[in-house]
Amino acid sequence: VFILAIESSCDDTAAAILQNDKVLSNVVANQLIHNQYGGVVPELASRAHQQNIVPVVDAALRKANIQKEQLSAIAFTQGPGLMGSLLVGSSFAKSMALALQIPLIAVNHMQAHVLAHFIAEENFEKPKFPFLALTISGGHTQIIKVDDFFEMKVIGETTDDAVGEAFDKSAKILGLPYPGGPLIDKYAQLGNPKAFVFTKPKVPGLDFSFSGLKTAILYFIQKKKIENSNFVDENLNDICASIQHTIIEILMDKLKLAVKETGIKQIAIGGGVSANSGIRNTLKKAEDLYGWKTFVPKFEYTTDNAAMIGIVGYQKFLNQTFETSSVVSKARIQF
Ligand code: ATP
Ligand code: FE
Repeated sequence: VFILAIESSCDDTAAAILQNDKVLSNVVANQLIHNQYGGVVPELASRAHQQNIVPVVDAALRKANIQKEQLSAIAFTQGPGLMGSLLVGSSFAKSMALALQIPLIAVNHMQAHVLAHFIAEENFEKPKFPFLALTISGGHTQIIKVDDFFEMKVIGETTDDAVGEAFDKSAKILGLPYPGGPLIDKYAQLGNPKAFVFTKPKVPGLDFSFSGLKTAILYFIQKKKIENSNFVDENLNDICASIQHTIIEILMDKLKLAVKETGIKQIAIGGGVSANSGIRNTLKKAEDLYGWKTFVPKFEYTTDNAAMIGIVGYQKFLNQTFETSSVVSKARIQF
């Protein structure tokens, strides 16, 4: 089975070719244009998708060394995401499936972040059901109980900002360029995580909140700058390490509670923030500390990519879950 997968939910135009659960090609065109605005501009995103989609799909086919006539089905991201961006991918997928007379498969982007763990990769073990998925990205922060490929339930999520936003907004306060998450990670590796203490939010149950942390950091920095205008420059590593440490503690507290409530000790992480080295190290340590088994996917499958859309497409192909071309994109969808 050869699946062409297309992802265009936000600001990356991506296409991948899978042969069953193996990735033959995984192409992403990043839209750097948004960096100068400090965030994704929806109108610009859909225009850039429009420009990128044909060359990106072409490149995916070429790299996989596959003719489009060999494709078994086309999978695309139905949502959640920016409507204008989603429409470019879905319209393209619909037309191509129609032209080639092959099945069309709609994929939930958040489900794809979870199921990315089922892509066949050497040296990467797949989780076994049931497991807990922690999806941490620029737009989402969720703990999901995964009982089967398409049986999953969100048991905790953010009530305001996503973890990625917490990283990016903190970085902005420090005067770092967007997206600041990877920079905080970089400086944090050189700093003392206990140098500064930020209060953690008190949110009941498995839900998260990050907007209070951002405000706490803002006030802290403003106050320190009055005493010493070079405070940020002189303490950047320690500030970043302390921010990252606080965010990781917030995540770990909820994960521990989720493990306690569900009795499930397998944790699979996904989403762009799972690239964070502090989070990766902390989870590895949790294996010895708490007897957890943790799964961290290959980096290219954690940020937005089409391979993860393809693996869901492959599962749906096996289940024969196909759509007609009247299927609609959805800015918001639950599982
Ligand atoms: P969604 O997947 O919810 O639609 P998105 O596309 O914005 O959101 P991703 O591309 O999965 O999200 O992740 C991007 C986010 O990950 C950004 O907020 C970025 O700062 C953050 N990020 C990436 N690398 C790191 C890192 N090493 N440490 C911390 N944050 C990181
Ligand atoms: Fe995503």
